[in-house]
Amino acid sequence: MTQSLAPAVVPKAELHVHIEGAASPELVRELAQQNGVDVTGLFAEDGAYAWSDFTQFLAAYDSASRVFRTPQDYTRLSETYLRSIAEQGAIYAELTISPDHAAAAGLSYADYVGGLAEGIYRAREATGIEARMIVVGVRHFGARAVEQVAAQVTARPHPLVTGFGLAGDEAEGHPANFARAFRMAGEAGLGLTAHAGETAGAESVTAALDFLQVSRIGHGVRAIEDTAVVERLARDGIVLEVCPGSNLALGLYGALRFHPVNLLRRAGCRITLNSDDPPFFGTTLGEEYEGCARTFGWSREQCLDITRTAIGAAFCDEDTRGHLLRAVADAAGAPPAPA
Ligand SMILES: [Zn+2]
Repeated sequence: MTQSLAPAVVPKAELHVHIEGAASPELVRELAQQNGVDVTGLFAEDGAYAWSDFTQFLAAYDSASRVFRTPQDYTRLSETYLRSIAEQGAIYAELTISPDHAAAAGLSYADYVGGLAEGIYRAREATGIEARMIVVGVRHFGARAVEQVAAQVTARPHPLVTGFGLAGDEAEGHPANFARAFRMAGEAGLGLTAHAGETAGAESVTAALDFLQVSRIGHGVRAIEDTAVVERLARDGIVLEVCPGSNLALGLYGALRFHPVNLLRRAGCRITLNSDDPPFFGTTLGEEYEGCARTFGWSREQCLDITRTAIGAAFCDEDTRGHLLRAVADAAGAPPAPA
């Protein structure tokens, strides 16, 4: 028997990807035409999303989001995205979803979640990938709006909605303002995470930990600016949803070799790799793993460890977690890829 020369794919898991931000330009163009939505200026000549600074990125994101009008549109979005990362080796993903975005398109919370869930079921049927959803409130809409999102999520439980989070402009609103919303979500059994330490500094990570009872931080990389915060993350086992490609695209760091992900890992922080808004940032989940392995010299075992960390921190039931960890163990036992 000849042994395959193709390297065995590292199983991957993604905890931080905004579903509207994961929409491929092809799907957005198709739905724009189908739904009669004007997307003038959204695309560059090469067909990719066109933006050059943070404000333009937000405008492009909103413009792309507007083509999704029906539950069926969202089904196509989640199914397409999950199939694409399953091809890259993903066995698990948590999709960050924003009812405020869906409401802007005239869709109810139930239709939004129902449409996305159908895509998750279809992708699982086709590829075996497991997925869950994290509902986020938008911090620059204020504490009342985020509490309304929390109330909606807890009043209408869905088996695939397993997490609650906070997104939006980190410069707006102290985490203390959102403590009540997070308490409601936590009491309902949802896993908790919040964006911090991306555009704001290490103190924003401390504030999220102090006031929001989160077990994970979205990004959190700027914790590196304060040794005490890094030590706290490591000691308390807080998991960082690191999105290197996003940080590079938005200019936080000039090149991957200057990104603190490896320093944080070596300091004992629990690290995962994520794509955030992949087609906007010219990245994919697979490229995040490959780029870090290449740049920081991570072994296959270290990459598998990233996936184990993500599954350990996943907002899923214990049966699913056990099944996913067994899949990683099977891959770890597979013959190593040729050099
Ligand atoms: Zn994000």
